[in-house]
Amino acid sequence: MAAERTLILFKPDAVQRRLCGRLLTRIEERGLKIVGLKMLQVTPELSREHYAEHVEKPFYPQLEEFITSAPVIALCVEGPEAIQVMRGMMGKTNGRESAPGTIRGDYGVSRQMNLIHGSDGPEAAAREIGIYFSDSELFDYDPTLAPWTCADD
Ligand code: GDP
Ligand code: MG
Repeated sequence: MAAERTLILFKPDAVQRRLCGRLLTRIEERGLKIVGLKMLQVTPELSREHYAEHVEKPFYPQLEEFITSAPVIALCVEGPEAIQVMRGMMGKTNGRESAPGTIRGDYGVSRQMNLIHGSDGPEAAAREIGIYFSDSELFDYDPTLAPWTCADD
């Protein structure tokens, strides 16, 4: 199974609520590999680029206000079917509809302040990784534990 990369953000509510460590632990314990990680302040320009598909929607002004309200932590995460694996771990957009056991279902009841962003497909992942990371900020290293975490792939 070829490794896939996805762009993850710990949103301002995760940073403010000091949940980033827990979220990172979940990703690592699942067996996914961190290949890039940084803290940054999303600007309105960056928000419009990232959320291009939502810019015309009625909720966009609120979303921009939220995503620019405190720093975020951006990660590039790699693993077999990492995009869908992460979407599954995140749960549904609305925390109230998200199953217990998912990140959004365990830590929130908001549709907007839902703690985490994850790319929704390969095209989005490639585009979003390119927005947040330069090539030199992404790391290739030997996944020493891979035989123990995805040996049947
Ligand atoms: P995601 O892929 O599950 O993150 O959801 P979407 O791509 O549909 O939306 C992007 C982000 O916009 C969500 O994660 C929420 O933070 C926010 N959002 C989505 N729908 C709404 C809405 O109806 N109202 C508000 N205020 N925010 C929303
Ligand atoms: Mg989305």
